[in-house]
Amino acid sequence: MAQLSDDCFAFGGPMMSVDEAIALIAARVTPVRDMETVALAGADGRVLARDITAPLPLPPFTNSAVDGYAVSSRDLPQDQELSFAVTGRVQAGGSAGGPLAQGRAMRIFTGAPMPDGADTVFMQEDVRLEGDKVVLPAGLKPGANVRPAGEDVALGDPALKSGQRLRPQDVALVAAFGLTRLDVVRRLRVAVFSTGNELASPGEARDPAQLFDSNRYMLMAMLARLGCEVSDLGIIRDDRAALASALQDVAGTHDLILTTGGVSTGEEDHVKASVESVGSLVLWRMAIKPGRPVAMGVIAGTPFIGLPGNPVASFVTFVHVVRPTILALSGARQENLLPLPVRAGFSYRKKIARREYVRVSLRRAADGVLEAVKFPREGAGLLSSLVDTDGLVELGETVTRVEPGESVGFLAYASLM
Ligand code: AMP
Ligand code: MG
Repeated sequence: MAQLSDDCFAFGGPMMSVDEAIALIAARVTPVRDMETVALAGADGRVLARDITAPLPLPPFTNSAVDGYAVSSRDLPQDQELSFAVTGRVQAGGSAGGPLAQGRAMRIFTGAPMPDGADTVFMQEDVRLEGDKVVLPAGLKPGANVRPAGEDVALGDPALKSGQRLRPQDVALVAAFGLTRLDVVRRLRVAVFSTGNELASPGEARDPAQLFDSNRYMLMAMLARLGCEVSDLGIIRDDRAALASALQDVAGTHDLILTTGGVSTGEEDHVKASVESVGSLVLWRMAIKPGRPVAMGVIAGTPFIGLPGNPVASFVTFVHVVRPTILALSGARQENLLPLPVRAGFSYRKKIARREYVRVSLRRAADGVLEAVKFPREGAGLLSSLVDTDGLVELGETVTRVEPGESVGFLAYASLM
């Protein structure tokens, strides 16, 4: 069972930077070790459990990169074009049947194995046919238009490392090796519930003072993108005993318990007390906006994360606390989020020593440069601010102001999950 160290004291302290939080998570979370074997077709998004060494060179044999005429580089026309008799023909998936005779050319097609004795291919667009001869121009380099065996990946090369979250191109590489099954880390089991008397589930009756629970569906969708198996525990009321019992029900059988709401310090925020009654807890006051305290804890050996209730705060803290925890639990390489430079189309004031995320849309300005346009309002409860934008501009701890025209770092939503 995955464990977060019980020594939550180390999580304490007055205010934690995003980087400190991520480093602490990476250092303290014990990865799940259980592996399973999956078929290639189901491998996308899974975390590779063993290194893969190339069992086959790629390409597996030397072949032509173009449709054309194969020759030996010893026969290449040097100063003027030369006429060659064409003997033999080899197509993709076929065989030349025998070696290329000296002073001859062989008709060849893209992907066809190079005949013995040939090492250079003229593109058919560059030659002229005269009767049953082909006239080849001067000046082609030896080895041109040929893909040597192993030029892509050499036999025995390290190809993929364990901890790699498999992308379609990684799956393609494994397929190119002819492998059919892969050892991956088993999916993480994550239990999720929302807290709050003001919440109703979509599909249920909603009292006049209630709103539909949107965070749970957002978090479950984000977890699914990270390859987790989710247990949906619904909505738990603002009641310490009910919360404690829900926590106890799933601790020990899940790798992570994730909740939203109730982690502020108001009288009706019962998550803190309920976690403390069945496990241990610390509140992380993270130096991040939007975001508020994030609760971290351990219940019967299962890590617990309590996110704030405001949807945007919940979204942003998921990215910076839950995502690194999921990656650490699954033994995946921590993939650093790399903000890409865009031009600010807005001005902004911020506090020093805090990281802030500004919701923006991208547009191509008149001079062709990508520009980030800030969503006009800033509330942490505005779901439309996430829906109507493309991503987040990250403003680091040392920044205090942004002026239009400055370069800022942009993170697309798709890159966050
Ligand atoms: P809390 O963190 O529990 O104080 O919640 C702060 C605010 O976030 C609440 O007043 C709700 O408006 C909103 N909120 C809390 N939980 C959810 C949820 N599951 N879905 C949507 N909004 C929520
Ligand atoms: Mg609440």
